[in-house]
Amino acid sequence: MEEMTLKKLEKLYEGKAKILYETDDPDLLVQYFKDEATAFNAKKKGIIRKKGEINNAVSSRIFKYLEENGIRTHFVEQLNEREMLVKRLDIIPVEVIVRNIAAGSLAKRLGVEEGTELRETVLEFCYKSDELGDPFINEYIIRAFGFATGDEITEMSEAALRINGLLTRFFDERGIILVDYKLEFGRHKGEVLLGDEITPDGCRLWDKETHERLDKDRFRRDLGKVEEAYEEVLRKVLA
Ligand code: 5GP
Repeated sequence: MEEMTLKKLEKLYEGKAKILYETDDPDLLVQYFKDEATAFNAKKKGIIRKKGEINNAVSSRIFKYLEENGIRTHFVEQLNEREMLVKRLDIIPVEVIVRNIAAGSLAKRLGVEEGTELRETVLEFCYKSDELGDPFINEYIIRAFGFATGDEITEMSEAALRINGLLTRFFDERGIILVDYKLEFGRHKGEVLLGDEITPDGCRLWDKETHERLDKDRFRRDLGKVEEAYEEVLRKVLA
């Protein structure tokens, strides 16, 4: 660990793909990446071999790149194969979905083909709730229920658009189209920071030449070669 004195203590929270552990520094947590994969609100379950290691490495590389480019995030450092050190966040219960190309639920909702071009980047908000299946919400609902303030919505939206510019370029340089993805933010000492992870679990990543899916859609849709796709993303991200 970063400092010899920093100790991993008890489990704070276990989610579908990650576990958070307390440390003896109240501001820092250890984020552990599991191999478990779920889809369709955990109705579909499975294991993607080595996913934890791959996602930890991919997310660490991307968060480091974002930090180097002025985005404030929870990332402190990668500790080992499956763990990263992060700042403790008071998570804002809003998923920010960023879309560059129509796919997934947007393509379905609008009755358009996946791959349909968008004239501009689309931001959507969902309420983070496993029981309700992360329902679609808007800024009025976020403010009305106190999920976030108007200022926080502005901060998250502006950060999401800046992140999108950086990530679109990052993936493009590595032969990958960043189709859409989910971001989560949280509060830390009065600041709104990017949290969670950026991995093929929460991003649609298509090969630039072949449009082959290199993300969790291979698991969701039983397309096969799931592990291979995750390995390929890792190779390209670290290139
Ligand atoms: P869609 O709304 O089309 O299902 O998802 C849009 C994008 O956000 C996809 O890249 C998808 O992976 C990501 N996303 C949306 N909700 C979740 C979620 O609850 N968990 C994860 N890991 N990704 C999500």
